[in-house]
Amino acid sequence: MRYISTRGHAAPQAFCDILLGGLAPDGGLYLPESYPQISRAELDAWRQLSYADLAYEILAKFITDIPPADLKALVAKTYTAAVYCHARNGGDARQITPLTRLEDGLYTQELSNGPTLAFKDMAMQLLGNLFEYVLEKRGESINILGATSGDTGSAAEYAMRGKHNVKVFMLSPDGKMSAFQRAQMYSLQDDNIFNIAVTGLFDDAQDIVKAVSNDAEFKKKYKIGAVNSINWARVAAQIVYYFQGYFLATQSNDEQVSFAVPSGNFGNICAGHIARQMGLPIKQLVLATNENDVLDEFFRTGIYRPRSAAETSITSSPSMDISKASNFERFVFDLVGRDPAAVSELWAKVDKGLAFDLSESVHWAKIARFGFVSGKSTHLDRINTIRFAQGRYQVMLDTHTADGLKVALEHRLPNVPMIVLETAQPAKFEETIREALGTEPVRPADLAGIENLPQRVEVMAPDVEAIKRYLVARL
Ligand SMILES: *Cc1c(COP(=O)(O)O)cnc(C)c1O
Repeated sequence: MRYISTRGHAAPQAFCDILLGGLAPDGGLYLPESYPQISRAELDAWRQLSYADLAYEILAKFITDIPPADLKALVAKTYTAAVYCHARNGGDARQITPLTRLEDGLYTQELSNGPTLAFKDMAMQLLGNLFEYVLEKRGESINILGATSGDTGSAAEYAMRGKHNVKVFMLSPDGKMSAFQRAQMYSLQDDNIFNIAVTGLFDDAQDIVKAVSNDAEFKKKYKIGAVNSINWARVAAQIVYYFQGYFLATQSNDEQVSFAVPSGNFGNICAGHIARQMGLPIKQLVLATNENDVLDEFFRTGIYRPRSAAETSITSSPSMDISKASNFERFVFDLVGRDPAAVSELWAKVDKGLAFDLSESVHWAKIARFGFVSGKSTHLDRINTIRFAQGRYQVMLDTHTADGLKVALEHRLPNVPMIVLETAQPAKFEETIREALGTEPVRPADLAGIENLPQRVEVMAPDVEAIKRYLVARL
């Protein structure tokens, strides 16, 4: 299997060659040169498999440059009930992403049972093990520099902690994250993890990362890397739970299901799109946004209009507060018939902060065959949906999953089970749960009192040179 760029001007690469990098050299995103097609016989055989074995079968189709036995061991060590130990609602942790039945034909699928209680752990934990393996083989090392306002940074730290040849430098806005989020990150004592609280906003932290990454010489000399959401391995790892959810919600492979996906950067639902292209019987992919509805607008109108930072709202489902969906280019590549020239033309506009409009194009006429529908959910919808799920089903939802359920209910079809992907646990969003239900969400026992643990964090001014010096002194 080789990987090509959505913009068409990069040499095809093997999986391990794109694992540690970001964008393709032509500015595009990597995708497999074709999607492996799953036969009915394979699908029948896979129904019996454990999550780890299923993950191996699927990933082996995309990762052909790691010896099968090694890949199998990496996957087996990642997808264990000990790593994904936070199952709720009576779910079986051995299933890794168990379903919770709300009513007949309506489920949530728990993707947030990993160490940081959010779905980013599903892919990030595998990424940690893949990084360590490939770096060791090549005798290389990497220094990951990132900025976070919460979920991604902690998922990256928990995935990379203790990994050989990897150091993580994570910038966060000083005093802007919840006490729980701070405790999750800053209480890590591993000596390859460095937390830097920048006295400024998330954007200041982000700007520093950009400034350092734009310094090509520094980046090369000090082996600076990233683990952002466009990383292909993250998308690949996420394909697995669509298969698992399908098997758990159906009796036979003659049935179809729909998935509702709380979306921000389009990474999660992009994996669902690929699962569907591989032949998994998915009827609809229901894309849910919050007030930041750039993707809902596209699927309703054919117009993709990225927003400015000033136009991006801060909401109570903060992990979906995006103005531009970094993985969306992968889907558009398929929509335009995998024509890199067409993608380059569209993204020439996006890269200038402009919109594009496909509504009059021949491509838009084909949109229905991809199975997407969409909707949006506001703060009031979120509060009402959290109350509804608690009252009707005695299931407590987090704010992002509530957005997913709200939109899912608008698109249910008779006799097609609907699976709402649960992307975080309510324990991460205590304030909104209190507002909706007047109670505190239950926190997993092993995270009780995490705020009282000693913390390791360096508070620094948003000064690029000072932060570069800090890094260099620790490499
Ligand atoms: C990252 C995240 C999302 C959005 O996922 P994308 O892949 O960016 O679309 C939704 N919910 C939670 C809790 C997240 O952390």
